[in-house]
Amino acid sequence: MVDMTGYERRAPTGGVAALREALLDLEVALRLYVPGYPVTDAVPALGEGAQMAMNEKVAMEVALGASAAGRRSIVLVKHLGVNLLSDPLSIAPSHSIGAGLVVLAGEDVGPKGSQAEMDIRNYGPLCEIPVLEPSGPGLLFPALQEAYALSEEIRAPAMVRTTFEFAGKDAGSEIISTYNSVNPDKREAGRFGSFDRSVWDLTAKGRHQRYRGAAIPRMRSASERSFLNLLKEGGGDLGIIASGRPASFASKTDHPLLVVGFSHPLPAEAIREFVSEHDKILVAEEPTPFIEARLMLCADIFGKLTGHLPWGRMEEGDMERAADLIISGEEPGPAAPPQRFDERLASKTVCDDCPYLPLYEAVADLPVPVAGDAGCSIRAVRDPPGAVDVVYGLGSSVAVACGFGKKGVAIIGDYAIAHSGLLGLIDAVNNEREVLVVLLNNGVAAMTGGQRVPDLSPVLRAIVPDLQTVDLPSGREEIIELLSLEMARPGVSLVVARGVCPRFGPPP
Ligand code: SF4
Repeated sequence: MVDMTGYERRAPTGGVAALREALLDLEVALRLYVPGYPVTDAVPALGEGAQMAMNEKVAMEVALGASAAGRRSIVLVKHLGVNLLSDPLSIAPSHSIGAGLVVLAGEDVGPKGSQAEMDIRNYGPLCEIPVLEPSGPGLLFPALQEAYALSEEIRAPAMVRTTFEFAGKDAGSEIISTYNSVNPDKREAGRFGSFDRSVWDLTAKGRHQRYRGAAIPRMRSASERSFLNLLKEGGGDLGIIASGRPASFASKTDHPLLVVGFSHPLPAEAIREFVSEHDKILVAEEPTPFIEARLMLCADIFGKLTGHLPWGRMEEGDMERAADLIISGEEPGPAAPPQRFDERLASKTVCDDCPYLPLYEAVADLPVPVAGDAGCSIRAVRDPPGAVDVVYGLGSSVAVACGFGKKGVAIIGDYAIAHSGLLGLIDAVNNEREVLVVLLNNGVAAMTGGQRVPDLSPVLRAIVPDLQTVDLPSGREEIIELLSLEMARPGVSLVVARGVCPRFGPPP
């Protein structure tokens, strides 16, 4: 395997060590994160002084302020968190920034710890920002080097997207054995640059014209000459184009391989040349056919869209199976049936010793719809206790329950309400909606590893002055009586249920 630039490379490290080393080497002053699978494992790499932001949009906004003041920053989030920060992310490029700002986003492919799978590479064309994709932990360091250098050159945030696990068995992925130690584009400390106010001489249209005119050609050239694009020679007429985790599978085959390390913009010249040299092309990527869909318009391409590879997470044998089918000309078989919850080994129902179990059981007996949240209450959708009907994401339950038409129930954790649920509560009071909000207050974000959560009691009392509290464990009759009373009252009810999670104990 050789990189397309010919630079000498160093020995690999795991994802956590590579991230720690890169942030030190690149002098990234502000390190922010929002925990969640699969990026929680990478949080220790952010080092002392790293800050957990209340939500991804806030993290991005703080990072933008640091960038404007000339400080490099990083925002570490999971894939779904990119949705929340995409508002400032979409404005930042044409607005312009100061020092380098990188969003490091981990995808939960074939979701293990997320509600949904999505392909955040799409934020590249959507927000017109560079998206770099190191295919293994050994390329994380140069990916961050390139991302900061490019971010400062085009004065826009850059995204580094990962599909490998930072810790665990994927961390030793051997596809990339070495990496470049010194990036010639690296800036010296203190010269990162602050925000340039002269952009305000331009209209919104003019700022976008300025950005597109200068940044897009620079992004394209950076993509073509990126350290992250790799070529491996092989035999036969079938060439493989791969990105991310599947590149390590592809590297074990005898087929010629082009590893694409820049998702947006794609290295068009390198891809065109590789495609022209092979009769057939298999594209291996996760989770969606992002590259394949672009190539199939003008070439004979195989992959997910043709049924040769599965959507979502790929397994090691998928690559060889697809190559055999393409070479033999056989049609792929039907797609695998949808995975069922009872096929998974890990239990994701409410813990047997959870202090909130009697509360969930009491809510399950109420003859009204119940919205849960992406904290522990999502575990209550299944029996026992089967209390929750719908869950549309972290912080969503209050607003969702407000849409039920008649008074329904929202169950929300104290992290979720601080993350984004508070706005739903303010809206409910402001619009005199009908809803019973049950706040599970244990002082920690239990679903993401027990991070400390701020006590919002004074804020909540200011919004809903007649809130009720109950300390758990408590008798089931007392809980039922309290919920029934609140359900009978018109308007917004808030019950704060205080308990201690036995997994993480009381907040530190
Ligand atoms: S992790 Fe804690 S709060 Fe969550 S279900 Fe288990 S016991 Fe309850």
